[in-house]
Amino acid sequence: MSKEARERNLRLLPSVDEVLRYNKLAGLLAGHPRSVVVEAVRASLAGERRRILEGSPTQEELGEHSYLNLIAEKAIEAVRLSVRSKLSPVINATGVVLHTNLGRALLSEKARRAVNEIASSYSNLELNLDTGMRGSRYAPLESLLTSLTGAEAALVVNNNAAAVLLVLSTLAKGREVVVSRGQLVEIGGSFRIPEVMAQSGARLVEVGATNKTYPEDYQKAVNEHTALLLHVHTSNYRIIGFARETTIKELVNIGRVFSLPVVSDLGSGSLVDLSRYGLPREPAVKEVLAAGADVVAFSGDKLLGGPQAGIVAGRRRYIEMMKKHPLLRAIRVDKMTVAALEATLREYLDEERAIEELPVLKMLTAPIRLLEEKAGELAGCIRRLAEDKAEVTVEQGYSAVGGGALPAAELPTVLVAVVPRAISAGDLQTVLRKGEPAVMSRVRDNRLILDVRTIRDNELPALAAAVGKVIN
Ligand SMILES: *Cc1c(COP(=O)(O)O)cnc(C)c1O
Repeated sequence: MSKEARERNLRLLPSVDEVLRYNKLAGLLAGHPRSVVVEAVRASLAGERRRILEGSPTQEELGEHSYLNLIAEKAIEAVRLSVRSKLSPVINATGVVLHTNLGRALLSEKARRAVNEIASSYSNLELNLDTGMRGSRYAPLESLLTSLTGAEAALVVNNNAAAVLLVLSTLAKGREVVVSRGQLVEIGGSFRIPEVMAQSGARLVEVGATNKTYPEDYQKAVNEHTALLLHVHTSNYRIIGFARETTIKELVNIGRVFSLPVVSDLGSGSLVDLSRYGLPREPAVKEVLAAGADVVAFSGDKLLGGPQAGIVAGRRRYIEMMKKHPLLRAIRVDKMTVAALEATLREYLDEERAIEELPVLKMLTAPIRLLEEKAGELAGCIRRLAEDKAEVTVEQGYSAVGGGALPAAELPTVLVAVVPRAISAGDLQTVLRKGEPAVMSRVRDNRLILDVRTIRDNELPALAAAVGKVIN
């Protein structure tokens, strides 16, 4: 573009005021703060000015009025994007039930209703309605947790990482904690057992080897500085082959001899025996406590299927010490968590109900026949929309539990595979991820894979439509 043409085009650009007065923006101004609209108009104008100076696609033929229209449309789109929630729902077609990046556990209907109710009204969060005196926010959860786990007492904090930190700070600050080398795990992000230990002020004493740790290894490490024996459930990996872990029972025996508490970081911490439903065995909280562990810590939003939370359960005298620890205030749960967790725990009073009502357990135990039906429906919808633009098949496959739980579990599932003709499966996956609603999927051998285990029934039409739109 010639210099003259560029200058002519620049002169054709409307002013901010002209755009704001343009009738197309009336609706936008009525529905959004003026400052937001002005900012969007400025940004759109600046963008267009830059494009002209760079000589990119000439707008000469647009004329004065059309520039106004162009800028207005860009501003409308910019405002739409800027007011859209940045945290938004995603369709999870990965089949990973506890997907940490996608928010882990979905709440049950009762838990969702409880959150809604408690968020929109005042509550007796810290008030005992019988006495009129100050109450504890932990009380309603504690009685449910003790009856579900057999623990003497329990406490709930923000997440399991915080729970482990609280346990170690309370029971082992300035003293030694004995852990097997095979259990110094990294959970994700920066949560590694040695680092959490350092934060808590406890000193780590590693024993055994990566693959094998015997009771004698712990025994030899105990001295007058030892505060406790820690067992970490290696929830996100498995050592197979030549391996030996010291069991909780064996640790408890050593603990008894030396009068030391045994603490178990269970990670997931299931409240039911999942092997009864065809899943691999995962130590249930109740069993670990029954085996004699003095304190256990586990997550609220892994296999338990509730809100993000960390639960500590065990002997009353240790839990009472934690309740008085100043750290507790910094990691305490808010009322919405209390509401959601109470409703979730209540479902467990009847195990069959828990399996039926808690989305995590329902997805994990979904019968193959149900998954086949869902996959058939999804494939049918996509075929109708895609016509001859993609090949759509239904096939058998496996889904993962995720969230660092049951790493070895391969749950048989049913997949819908889509092979688009005009674009690659990778491109299809990217466009779906950036769409609205966003869809997370897998790609294998240049095929888009949709695992129906984690797709909710009411998402099927939107998912099929999203795939159909990209393919066409
Ligand atoms: C997941 C996990 C944690 C951390 O739990 P969050 O609730 O994510 O904070 C700690 N320890 C183990 C063994 C875990 O599996």
